[in-house]
Amino acid sequence: MALDIHDKLKDNPLELKGYGYEYDPLLDKWHIRDMAADFVYLGDEDVQYELPGTLRKILNAPSWQPDVKGSYPLFTLAEWQEAGHKHAVLNFVRVSIHDLTAEVLEALRNEDTVTLVLESDNEAAMPEMRRAFFKLIEAKCQLPVILKRDYPVEDLDHFLLHSATDTGALLIDGMGDGIWLTAQRVFPQKVNDAAFGILQASRTRISKTEYISCPSCGRTLFDLEETTAMIRKATNHLKGVKIGIMGCIVNGPGEMADADYGYVGSGPGKITLYKGKEVVKRAIPSEDALDELIELIKQHGDWVEQG
Ligand code: SF4
Repeated sequence: MALDIHDKLKDNPLELKGYGYEYDPLLDKWHIRDMAADFVYLGDEDVQYELPGTLRKILNAPSWQPDVKGSYPLFTLAEWQEAGHKHAVLNFVRVSIHDLTAEVLEALRNEDTVTLVLESDNEAAMPEMRRAFFKLIEAKCQLPVILKRDYPVEDLDHFLLHSATDTGALLIDGMGDGIWLTAQRVFPQKVNDAAFGILQASRTRISKTEYISCPSCGRTLFDLEETTAMIRKATNHLKGVKIGIMGCIVNGPGEMADADYGYVGSGPGKITLYKGKEVVKRAIPSEDALDELIELIKQHGDWVEQG
């Protein structure tokens, strides 16, 4: 997952917090969140401080220094074709659907250090990028592809809706190996969180606990919002665990079929707990249900203490 760095962050490590990296100046240490970007795009100018080891830099190829560790070049297609210096392991090459001619695909096909950065400025980016994938498939080109989109908007809802639609729909169909979202007018943490949310929802990369909750209806046997918030508070550090929270036992178990654990209303003040599709604790009092759920998660080895 890659993000652009904002200009004002270039000389201040504290600002990387929005990208999942929190710098502690007293201890001179980085705290790295589960949702921390893998690459940061710096354009033509390197940062003035040392980045945490897990955050790698992408620089425009003409400004890239081959001897700087953790730094990778971003070529345009023309630059790539003319390049004298390339990275021995990883080179990013920007392409759009218009670049993917038979000749170019033939030339790129066996370049095993290349990761394509697929861009589109088409308003209907998703179908255009999908067509680009069909070209890659037809040419038997199996290079990794990063989906890149720029959102020059201020409105967070607009950014969330469009980024999720453009990239999520492709990732769900197995098209794309990563995403690179640019939204200079949206707060970096929102961009970072949206990117990881898209990767999680499309099952491309699991970085947090997942909850499946029913929408609630006349059958709901407890306050769904309050209960979901309570369960999230206790379990939101369990990366990769999927918990279903369902208001009733009539339809709930079917609606949370692929959850690892289920918390289901089974009568007034009563909760039934599931492990996968199996009932494991029936009609326990709701005041004990969260502790029982945690105990169940522990019994199955999915619990970790909060850091
Ligand atoms: S699971 Fe039960 S309570 Fe929840 S929406 Fe479906 S029918 Fe209603």
